[in-house]
Amino acid sequence: MNGADCLPSLIAFDIDYTLWDLWIDTHVQAPFRRTGNTLNQVLDRYNQEIAFYPDVSKILHDISGKTTLALCSRTNAPDYARDVLRLLLVPPPPNDPDADGAPPEPKRAFDYFPQKEIYPGSKINHFKALHRKTGIPYSEMLFYDDESRNKDVESLGVTFVLVSSGLNSRSFWGGVEKWRKKNPVVTSSDGEV
Ligand SMILES: [Mg+2]
Repeated sequence: MNGADCLPSLIAFDIDYTLWDLWIDTHVQAPFRRTGNTLNQVLDRYNQEIAFYPDVSKILHDISGKTTLALCSRTNAPDYARDVLRLLLVPPPPNDPDADGAPPEPKRAFDYFPQKEIYPGSKINHFKALHRKTGIPYSEMLFYDDESRNKDVESLGVTFVLVSSGLNSRSFWGGVEKWRKKNPVVTSSDGEV
């Protein structure tokens, strides 16, 4: 039990050094390609590999469909980021031996995130756009990013989680816990209201 039933309404991720270990605007060069249906690997012009950190696919499986997922990047190369996200295949969840039908298929990274704010500038603008487009209050937004300068989104009421060495399951669920502590569920166990 990981508590995926009690999530904020929107979870946003920075991309560079949060989901993959490079700066898309400086470390790689177009054109990008994928070899066949290779999972979690895109190659650039010089065969430099672009891949999500190892725990990212499991995190996406756990929360996809339970909250709104967003990308929030201030890269100077939005087209590169979008190209790679369209090519990158997230491995499918493990096959459930009891399930009927075909085994789960890999899905494009691009398709996991209905909301994408990818352009330079203060991330306060990115979150204002997310709020405008979704109507979700800032208090219901949780954001993972590797750069402390982007903590300024807390001024809006967004819960900010600083990620070091890439997103992993421990840092992800630690972030959810941080959001829950700020937004406790009010329940009554003794019948009193
Ligand atoms: Mg980053």
